[in-house]
Amino acid sequence: MNSPIPLITNFNTREQTRYLSLLRQSLPNEKIVDGATLSDSEKPKCELAIVANPDKNALASYTSLKWVHSLWAGIEGLLRDTANSGLKIVRLIDPTLAEVMSESVLTWTLFLHRNMHIYAKQQSDRNWQSIAHCLAKNRTVGVLGLGELGKSSALRLADNGFKVLGWSRTQQSIANIGCLSGESGLNTLLKQSHIIICLLPLTKETFHLLNADRLSMPAQSSTLINFSRGAVVDTQALISALNKDKLAYAVLDVFEQEPLPPSSELWMHPKVTVLPHISAPTLPESACEIVAKNIRAYRQDGTLPSYVDITKGY
Ligand code: NDP
Repeated sequence: MNSPIPLITNFNTREQTRYLSLLRQSLPNEKIVDGATLSDSEKPKCELAIVANPDKNALASYTSLKWVHSLWAGIEGLLRDTANSGLKIVRLIDPTLAEVMSESVLTWTLFLHRNMHIYAKQQSDRNWQSIAHCLAKNRTVGVLGLGELGKSSALRLADNGFKVLGWSRTQQSIANIGCLSGESGLNTLLKQSHIIICLLPLTKETFHLLNADRLSMPAQSSTLINFSRGAVVDTQALISALNKDKLAYAVLDVFEQEPLPPSSELWMHPKVTVLPHISAPTLPESACEIVAKNIRAYRQDGTLPSYVDITKGY
């Protein structure tokens, strides 16, 4: 008999019930339990758990855990909370999530490409003025991060006629994408891109990667979309770059502090669109199917799905 698999989350009751029900449907031979209801004597029997923003102390009481499957794609918080524990973290890799993210990326790229940010301002000023049209093939879009989400977004942009550059830690080769890496590759992307899209995980290396120096590299009319993690961008440096006309506009879905505090000047900034972390929400049905598939494979022969490299931080 397999050990029970707890679902350890910060979900509200409705969300928790929904996920429990989907996981039980997908894994009928497993005992999927609500972590909050598991007794202290049962917790040490669990070897794996399914998690979403678990409380650090709640997770620590599962003393025999070998690995956890996150319901999220971004796992920097979980990595921080489980540092030095030896626990392996499997993150969500979901093609549907990549499709949703690439749709968001395309939506907001088109918004900026067709100058909607400028026309919205003109409307509020009752200003009737057209801007010279730029063909997509003459618009360079730079995608920072060419992973599960970055690659599919870059390809979707290329399919829609944009000239696309992409930047990653290791050098990649992707048809129709100008792949770059390293410091000089980053500089090239920042200098050449009219629209810069951030899809990098938050790690020690990417924290405040887009700082004052780097935010002064793009052309003045360039714009930024950050859909990965707020702290990849230095918020104060971004506000300063926007105020000093070094950057024309920013579409932000993620912030250094979430929810964005009411006191944040980003809310009312005339050159910022604030979104409440919705560019690619986890889709419960597809996420649970993927988690179930990985757990079934593990039960078959003990092979762990590919897990997060702690040294890289993603
Ligand atoms: P992946 O791990 O698949 O890809 C990460 C990419 O970033 C890789 O191309 C990697 O390079 C590159 N990278 C990492 N570190 C560096 C570095 N120091 N320098 C240059 N490139 C680097 O991540 P995903 O695409 O799945 O997800 C990206 C992030 O999106 C998540 O970490 C999460 O924070 C965020 N996210 C946001 C959501 C939202 O709704 N706003 C929803 C889901 C995720 P290489 O290819 O060489 O390894």
